Amino acid sequence: MNNSDSKELFTNMTSSKDKFSYNATNGELLNDGRYKIITALGSGGFSTVYLSRDLIENRYVAIKIVKNKKTYTMIALDEIKILKTFDKHDNVLKYYDNFIHKKHVCIVTEVVGIDLLQLIEIYDNHVPINIINNIIKQVLKGLEYIHSCNIVHCDIKPENILIGLTLEEIESFGHSIENNITMLTQDDQVFEEKILNSNVKICDFGNSCFINNKYSGKIQTRQYRSYEVIIGYPFTFNTDIWSLGCIIFELLTGDYLFEIYNDNYDDDFNHIYSITELLGEENIPDIKTDVLSIYAYKFYDKDGKLYNMKKIKSWNLEAVLSQKYKLNVKELADLMMRMLNPNPNLRVSASDCLS
Ligand code: ADP
Ligand code: MG
Repeated sequence: MNNSDSKELFTNMTSSKDKFSYNATNGELLNDGRYKIITALGSGGFSTVYLSRDLIENRYVAIKIVKNKKTYTMIALDEIKILKTFDKHDNVLKYYDNFIHKKHVCIVTEVVGIDLLQLIEIYDNHVPINIINNIIKQVLKGLEYIHSCNIVHCDIKPENILIGLTLEEIESFGHSIENNITMLTQDDQVFEEKILNSNVKICDFGNSCFINNKYSGKIQTRQYRSYEVIIGYPFTFNTDIWSLGCIIFELLTGDYLFEIYNDNYDDDFNHIYSITELLGEENIPDIKTDVLSIYAYKFYDKDGKLYNMKKIKSWNLEAVLSQKYKLNVKELADLMMRMLNPNPNLRVSASDCLS
């Protein structure tokens, strides 16, 4: 594959543009001519990631060019520190290098194929169960490893989980991800095989922290934020497991597990309300009245009763999946319920799920 071919590959991926972003151009050379930019692979809140060529090592790399703003720069330096602590692991993004380009921190890593949001799109909101099981297992292995390094990821979500297709593999399905979707209907067996044989990798350690140096503010992206984080109870490694439980539902249905639907209360209240509906009021743990839960007073009275005009109707996850989505996935629903135990002291760990 030459550079002009690879430019075609990611035509449907956008890069976020604001005054803090660095907009690299095709063919631009960075770090004294070592890295040549090819095209944008994706973007997030902090950065744009570019497919590039390392002209010294003679290989493709991904370069995350972080926005130029003091807070983003500090976060990026922490991300590098965390990436450097990892040894090689099949399910964790591999770090190569870092440098500064025009005041933007740049993080060089291996290139990985597509993220889980793209996979959900390719499968039109119905990712096959065998693929979902495969992804869960690999993400759990990645999390088990990350947690064994005393690190909490703190932002597990579909955009931050990548499927390790090589550029050549993506190319073998056509010249763009869009062609890839067409290909799927023509030969979905081959695509499925490829996905099943790929390494799933956790990326984006921009919000991660060491367990003994936890960030005191709100962590995690809204839809994947754990119960304890919302009420301000101290979180631990298995806050990442809560997020994975939410992702499983999204892989199965294309919908968020916790959709914020009511404009009359603030978002946190709606989130607590949705969690209570799913799990049942009787299953919400006593940590809501614990003094350590510093935000609980916003949602609960001193007896632990949710401030609420309406009666809470609970719904059963397995029943919703079978009745609304026509999915008979009892085992997965059971696993999700273990991951979504609102009491972090009783929730499963990555190792528990794998054993
Ligand atoms: P942010 O911290 O800004 O969210 P991420 O590290 O999550 O940045 O990267 C943004 C997006 O870029 C990801 O969601 C993914 O789609 C893509 N991406 C990131 N790293 C890679 C990589 N190594 N290979 C391929 N795509 C990547
Ligand atoms: Mg991200």
